[in-house]
Amino acid sequence: MNCSRVLSMTHPALIDELKTLVEPGKVLADADSLEFYGKDHTKHFAPAPMAIVFPKTTEQVQAIVRWANERKVALVPSGGRTGLSAAAVASNGEVVVAFDYMNQVLELNLTDRTAVCQPGVVTKQLQHLAEENGLYYPVDFASSGSSHIGGNIGTNAGGIKVIRYGMTRNWVAGMKVVTGKGDILELNKDLIKNATGYDMRQLFIGAEGTLGFVVEATMRLDRAPKNLTAMVLGTTDFNAIMPVLHAFQSKLDLTAFEFFSDKALAKVMARGDVPSPFATECPFYALLEFEATTEEVANHALETFEHCVEQGWVLDGVMSQSEQQLQNLWKLREFISETISHFTPYKNDISVTVSKVPAFLADVDAIVGQHYPDFEIVWFGHIGDGNLHLNILKPENLSKDEFFAKCATVNKWVFEIVQRYNGSISAEHGVGMTKRDYLEYSRSAVEIEYMKAVKAVFDPNGIMNPGKIFAV
Ligand SMILES: Cc1cc2nc3c(=O)[nH]c(=O)nc-3n(C[C@H](O)[C@H](O)[C@H](O)COP(=O)(O)OP(=O)(O)OC[C@H]3O[C@@H](n4cnc5c(N)ncnc54)[C@H](O)[C@@H]3O)c2cc1C
Repeated sequence: MNCSRVLSMTHPALIDELKTLVEPGKVLADADSLEFYGKDHTKHFAPAPMAIVFPKTTEQVQAIVRWANERKVALVPSGGRTGLSAAAVASNGEVVVAFDYMNQVLELNLTDRTAVCQPGVVTKQLQHLAEENGLYYPVDFASSGSSHIGGNIGTNAGGIKVIRYGMTRNWVAGMKVVTGKGDILELNKDLIKNATGYDMRQLFIGAEGTLGFVVEATMRLDRAPKNLTAMVLGTTDFNAIMPVLHAFQSKLDLTAFEFFSDKALAKVMARGDVPSPFATECPFYALLEFEATTEEVANHALETFEHCVEQGWVLDGVMSQSEQQLQNLWKLREFISETISHFTPYKNDISVTVSKVPAFLADVDAIVGQHYPDFEIVWFGHIGDGNLHLNILKPENLSKDEFFAKCATVNKWVFEIVQRYNGSISAEHGVGMTKRDYLEYSRSAVEIEYMKAVKAVFDPNGIMNPGKIFAV
């Protein structure tokens, strides 16, 4: 059954009921709050929620879910709202459930190397806590200063260290959820080994809040890396990047391997607050990182760099010699997303297996360039794991609506290529509302039916984030 609001009750009456479920002052319905909490980082859909509610306990979340089932009110889980697929956007009279007051690390266990987090813990907060205790939380990306652990689980966030550490999924030891039915489930009990049937924890990771709420998550931590060192290399063309990856991977344990185009670098340079890596202009750049634990490792890196120059793959390069230089090199990559956001980019987050990347990128580049030669395309991404971010910047002379309409046509072509290469239309940002009409390019019709059946088990009344992943 699809969720639709009870017509016999008005908004104010529903909001009055909602207020009885949480502490005084923890329901907001003023215009500014609706606008602020009703959207994520995307600009496609106008926010229009009914209200925002801030639970402080699991029991309050459960009470909200039970009430929503009774009243057939849709709920939208909201984290740091840095999402890039409109998965946390409430554009249809929903109640947004925000976790700003469930933002504590409840327990740190140094023996198990785990931290029990409430969903509103900011990703960077967990990274800092780990660091203070000589440990490491490795899921990292440019928005980690704002995104929440609950949102990271909702999207199965990836980022810049996936090549070594994997996605958020790899770091969730266990979790407590309130399902769309209103039941509280403890999933996996933080165990390393647990062979007792279905691992339902995995279903909630990447579910975009469509099955229920994550109200507690035990996150694994790792040993702290030693002497992280970055190199930025300018390559002769895109095809040179893959042999460079191969050459470095055969000599070193890489913690990151990112790439960006000259256009991406030019946008970051234009900010004026990041030093240029070197004077030589190159069409593409690779940023790689490794632990320089001994002088021998650093020497291996330099020898590999020289080999790549000799092979004609690399034109120039630089290696960090200090923490400050490491951070400056990372800014070249990490600032791209935020810097181009002023150009209303149409973002695609696509992936194929690593070996297919060069042919795939050439096909996509050709088709977009052929049909829209005036569009400025900015490529960057986590190429070490096959994840490319294709960003098309809005020309000044086009309105936002005209531009997005043209991009919808581009989408079809790009996703046809993705399908042909057996890739994914969303590597790490999620489906949300921006990709839901294209899901069949990555998932078969039968698979989608199974996914809908799973949703119906956890959320029989369809109150959890309707319209995300699938259309309602
Ligand atoms: C500059 C920039 C760079 C980025 N780089 C990357 C990157 O490299 N890699 C990457 O993966 N992402 C990246 N992102 C996207 C984004 O930061 C991630 O998707 C992040 O995981 C979203 O977390 P959030 O807390 O902001 O979630 P939100 O945007 O608030 O929500 C995301 C989803 O999770 C659901 N959700 C939130 N809380 C809960 C909960 N408690 N229970 C159940 N569901 C919940 C929401 O309903 C929604 O479906 C980037 C974004 C920006 C702006």
